[in-house]
Amino acid sequence: GVNFKGLLKRNWLLIATVISVVLGIGLGVLVREYASLSNLDKQYFGFPGEILMRMLKLVILPLIISSMITGVAALDSEVSGKIGLWAVIYYFSTTIIAVILGIILVMTIKPGVSQTADNIDRTGTTPNVTTTDTLLDLNITKEYKIVGAYSDGINVLGIIVFCVTFGLVIGKMGEKGRILLEFFDALNEATMKLVQIIMCYMPVGILFLIAAKIIEVEDWEIFKKMGLYMVTVLSGLAIHATICLPLIFFIIVRKNPYTFTLGMAQALVTALMISSSSATLPVTFRCAEENNRIDKRITRFVLPVGATINMDGTALYEAVAAIFIAQLNDYPLDVGQIVTISITATVASIGAAGVPNAGLVTMVIVLTAVGLPASDVTLIVAVDWLLDRFRTMINVLGDAYGAGIVQKLSKRELERMDLTSDVDVANP
Ligand code: ASP
Repeated sequence: GVNFKGLLKRNWLLIATVISVVLGIGLGVLVREYASLSNLDKQYFGFPGEILMRMLKLVILPLIISSMITGVAALDSEVSGKIGLWAVIYYFSTTIIAVILGIILVMTIKPGVSQTADNIDRTGTTPNVTTTDTLLDLNITKEYKIVGAYSDGINVLGIIVFCVTFGLVIGKMGEKGRILLEFFDALNEATMKLVQIIMCYMPVGILFLIAAKIIEVEDWEIFKKMGLYMVTVLSGLAIHATICLPLIFFIIVRKNPYTFTLGMAQALVTALMISSSSATLPVTFRCAEENNRIDKRITRFVLPVGATINMDGTALYEAVAAIFIAQLNDYPLDVGQIVTISITATVASIGAAGVPNAGLVTMVIVLTAVGLPASDVTLIVAVDWLLDRFRTMINVLGDAYGAGIVQKLSKRELERMDLTSDVDVANP
């Protein structure tokens, strides 16, 4: 029979997280129904979740730095060049596939054709709100600020470039370089220990995060109006996650892709709850290395880059959203414009930081490229908090599959290195 105790023991965190999601939804609905919270109360309510977010963000920086430097230094420059090339080819092709899938879906389902932009615009207008537009405008400026503040604080791409070059230099330094390599390796181990502790707190944080969100959302009605649009985005994400990516994985790696997805479950739930691939990164690392047994030389190198530039979910979403907005406006798109949308959606997904609602901001690139008003982003703001979660989940899944696939493609190089190097810092 099935060893339930063993199963429970191995997956207790995942089980606790899923339970806390359910409890959080329940708590949120209850409080919403029966208690009227002041703004300050709401803030207190969101506090345990905010702590989780801050703890995760706290470890991102040391994690990226230590993992990338040791990851790159442990490889020789030829091997890291090959791995980097495979990773870029994977990122690019899967992102394009996601975009094409999104475009096909939105052109067949046509979620915006039956309605008009004014219709959607008016949906948010309730008697006690003056105008929907001001409300939405406020909303988007708020998002801009969040993204701005975050990326001002941490320039992830810049850090990645620095770490890669620094890692390469250390790798070439011989004996002296080893001290630094060992230092960063120890830093990495310490950070991962911290992550382990943070993950114990995760169920609590997530419970309050989701409850606070449910209490905070003002307009549930909009979901009915935007139903078809959301179905289009969500089914695109689902197809990409359950068919496209697994198929590519299976063809290259020849292993069961769904077992691989299951191994990533904790990271996927985390991404769904916190809408940030960067903040999920510590969990992605643990799942990829411990459950899916991906070589640390690969994860350390490929995962931080993936979390920053590889966003299949965001790319798919941007393409769908742009065409949806065109449909709402009765704005005809020719083939050239559709091609423009697919290219700009790809660029916009690369440019989006791995933080909540980043995709909404880079959406402006796509809209202006085909002559749609950038301000029309406001039409989709109200449902973005929900779609953001799901596209982030697919972004993280894409990064994980990427690590698995790149590992397979670089197998020969890695094996050759195993034979030649005596000490293996990345895999003690
Ligand atoms: N929140 C997404 C992420 O972190 C980015 C986006 O807004 O699309 O991956």
